[in-house]
Amino acid sequence: MDALPTVLVKPGEADRVGAGHPWIYQGSILRLTRPTEDGDIVQVKDHRQRFLGVGFYNSKSKINVRILAPERVNVDEAFFEQRIRTALALRSRHLPGATSFRAVNAEGDLLSGLVVDKYEEVLVLQTSSLGMDRRKPMIVAALQKIFAPQAILERNDIASRRFEGLPEANGVLAGELPGASPVVQVRLNGLQFEVDLLGGQKTGLYLDQQMNYRRVAELIRGGQVLDGFTFLGGFALHAARAGAAQVHAIDQSQEAVAAALRNAGANGLAENCSFEAANVFDWLKARTAAKPHEKTVPCFDGIVLDPPSFTRNRAAVEDALRGYKEIHLRALKLLKTGGTLATFCCSHHVDARTFEEVILEAAFDARRLLRRVASYCQSPDHPIVPVIPETEYLKGFAYEAMR
Ligand code: SAH
Repeated sequence: MDALPTVLVKPGEADRVGAGHPWIYQGSILRLTRPTEDGDIVQVKDHRQRFLGVGFYNSKSKINVRILAPERVNVDEAFFEQRIRTALALRSRHLPGATSFRAVNAEGDLLSGLVVDKYEEVLVLQTSSLGMDRRKPMIVAALQKIFAPQAILERNDIASRRFEGLPEANGVLAGELPGASPVVQVRLNGLQFEVDLLGGQKTGLYLDQQMNYRRVAELIRGGQVLDGFTFLGGFALHAARAGAAQVHAIDQSQEAVAAALRNAGANGLAENCSFEAANVFDWLKARTAAKPHEKTVPCFDGIVLDPPSFTRNRAAVEDALRGYKEIHLRALKLLKTGGTLATFCCSHHVDARTFEEVILEAAFDARRLLRRVASYCQSPDHPIVPVIPETEYLKGFAYEAMR
């Protein structure tokens, strides 16, 4: 093992790495003891030669090393099998009975650069680091052993691969798609969703909301419900099943709205749901831009807002906060007194406190008083490791309008 090339890190960096943060940036490196190939395994030591771990090296990435283990392990098929089994055990404990979930979530499962989503009998894999990408055959073999899936796909059309010098790649890695189609029927909480595994957003679905669908539906029971940013109808269908009289759901994507409509039909909920392809900002504006002496009439008992991340980076945070404030202001004008607003923010750069501040500013402007009745985070198949702040991104709150 000492034959491995060694990356020495600068004083002051070792504590973060020792605490479990797996990334070593270019700027934190003192030197590499001898040349090594990108994608190979290196060992990492501090400036006093204290061993910190082994990981993948890539000189082309800003993250030069991604640590895999704090001990001297062989990164082989058995290593992946053991890590993936540990990840699966966590899902079995915290999402018992789920048949579709994120089986491996990168840093949250000590596998930086690897995501594996399970959609019933099909697995979808993303490798966002060179070291991981090179080991796809090993990972696929381990996955076959553990899950015996019908097919394993790769959905490697993500932007982050560019930072590692990796090309885009999409397709079947092993097995065959059921019915030779990338569209599969996925079950979440007993509801059925049609998911396009090769063409849809993310790897097909926003699995990170699986737990919150249930919890939000428990709060928003009857009445008129609005689901902004519905995608395939996740919150809308859960609310309709929980007893909402009518759910109106909006998404700007025509394809998403068409699929959401089919999902409503497949679950016998089409009568209580309507879907509309529209920009939520424009839609809300058209219903709340009253003339000075006119009053907006609140008409919803429940409103869900689950927009995409408005911030790709820290610099865009101010604009994003303006966007969040605007949709909350307008949505609150449409919420009846006693009604429930469930709202989410999936931007890692906006923390929960900042998010709530924006909501409260909007409530102030809309002259509403809110009681917080729930706080949400990403589902447990997207584990949060606090010493790796990047693992935490989804936050949400539910409020009742007290007046
Ligand atoms: N709530 C969904 C996930 C939403 S993801 C779920 O549980 O699955 C964000 C969605 O917002 C995407 O489907 C995207 O098409 C849509 N979207 C993005 N900007 C929008 C806008 N301005 N108006 C309406 N929809 C938008």
